[in-house]
Amino acid sequence: MTDPVLVIGAGVAGMTAAVELADNGVKTILIDRKSTIGGNALELYKAFPTDDCFYCFEGNRWRPGIRKCFYRSAMVDQPNIDLKTDTRVKGISGTPGKFSVILDLGPQYVDPKRCTLCGLCTNVSEAFLLASPQCQPQAVSYDPEKTDDGAKKAEDECPTQAINLSAIQTEETVTVSDIVIATGYHEMKPSVVDEYGYGKLPNVITQLELAQMLDPNGESAGALVRPSDGAQVKNVMMIQCVGSRDENYYPFCSKICCVFALKHANIISSERNDSRVSVVYMDIRTYDQHERYYRETRDAGVEFVRGRVSRVESQKDGTLDVHVYDSLLNRYLKFTVDLLVLSSALEPPEAADELLSSLGLNSASGYVGPADPISENEVVAGEHVYACGGALGPAEVPESVNQARAVVSKILQGRK
Ligand SMILES: Cc1cc2nc3c(=O)[nH]c(=O)nc-3n(C[C@H](O)[C@H](O)[C@H](O)COP(=O)(O)OP(=O)(O)OC[C@H]3O[C@@H](n4cnc5c(N)ncnc54)[C@H](O)[C@@H]3O)c2cc1C
Ligand code: SF4
Ligand code: SF4
Repeated sequence: MTDPVLVIGAGVAGMTAAVELADNGVKTILIDRKSTIGGNALELYKAFPTDDCFYCFEGNRWRPGIRKCFYRSAMVDQPNIDLKTDTRVKGISGTPGKFSVILDLGPQYVDPKRCTLCGLCTNVSEAFLLASPQCQPQAVSYDPEKTDDGAKKAEDECPTQAINLSAIQTEETVTVSDIVIATGYHEMKPSVVDEYGYGKLPNVITQLELAQMLDPNGESAGALVRPSDGAQVKNVMMIQCVGSRDENYYPFCSKICCVFALKHANIISSERNDSRVSVVYMDIRTYDQHERYYRETRDAGVEFVRGRVSRVESQKDGTLDVHVYDSLLNRYLKFTVDLLVLSSALEPPEAADELLSSLGLNSASGYVGPADPISENEVVAGEHVYACGGALGPAEVPESVNQARAVVSKILQGRK
């Protein structure tokens, strides 16, 4: 079998699968709908379980050998990987083992091979952005919806002629032997959950937005500040199970949000000494060896309140009054905080259903379900179709990497 493998999604899981297939001599087409690869992990600052910076993630200290340096890896130059950013699947036909896939290639406004990151375009136009200093491909991206007068000037003056504002969408049909779905997850925007005021009150944010704030490469350069006025945050409250374990939204537990909320609580308590953290929860679900985050946060003085939030009110001084029913004390309590952080449900990404139905795969609450629910091979989604990482449901990085490796092993076995 010599046809390449198609990997859909270039987050941690898809990149792992692509690199390991390529290292085993298998030609791999790796696509991502965005112009920068890395997926959600690109924006998460420090990572449990090792507390490494996400850019250089050791992955798993208890099961060694999963060291990842994604953003310095040879993803772009590995000859067996054909990386296509701004690309989606438009249609799939053919038979398992010989799929014919139509790829929709978005306009290539910036040629990553020419861009030298000189910074001229980002200085003259807001439509150009450097997603992260470590981004891959190492190039700025262009958002046509933000285009302004400076964009044309940038195109004319780019020293390497990397910019083409007239670029158009194209299509390409590829024949592939196997398809790996690594489309990950999406953090639910909790504006639909009325009681928390997300989308209306600027000082109500999600955990993903908090991670971006804590990141020294982020907009606030790592400072914990109120989005409303830039004032230093002294009191943070986190609310667990927002949209998860809730029949109105997602009945399932999003599995990793207790651990990343505790990780953030730890970072704030240990690195931002003037800030206090409280966590409102139904149950704290720390799995595997992550219980240590719970112990550490308690030792660091983080306050835990078992209960539910009934309403949030904004005050004139920018603070928020949060009314909580404490189910252990059987009492209503009021807290005044600067920042309210919602641990929002992790949901399947946009267009996940289309991919499932075009390949006739099982759905597990909108994520990819295994072909055989009682087999041990959760990564086998169909004949010559596999899934790994967040595409199978909320998963941490070490688990995503392990699943990607299981996929690679299955594909290599099939080629013997
Ligand atoms: C706030 C927060 C903190 C976290 N902290 C940690 C932590 O400390 N440690 C840890 O181990 N894990 C953590 N995680 C989990 C971690 O983000 C995931 O384990 C990891 O991102 C999963 O990688 P993935 O490749 O499966 O998915 P993703 O990172 O979601 O990547 C999927 C990729 O697929 C692309 N894509 C999606 N749909 C399509 C499509 N149709 N066509 C083409 N491309 C597509 C996306 O653009 C994206 O690049 C955290 C998660 C959150 C929300
Ligand atoms: S001006 Fe050209 S080379 Fe400089 S950052 Fe922009 S696209 Fe890259
Ligand atoms: S992991 Fe924790 S916060 Fe997330 S849904 Fe499960 S119990 Fe709720």
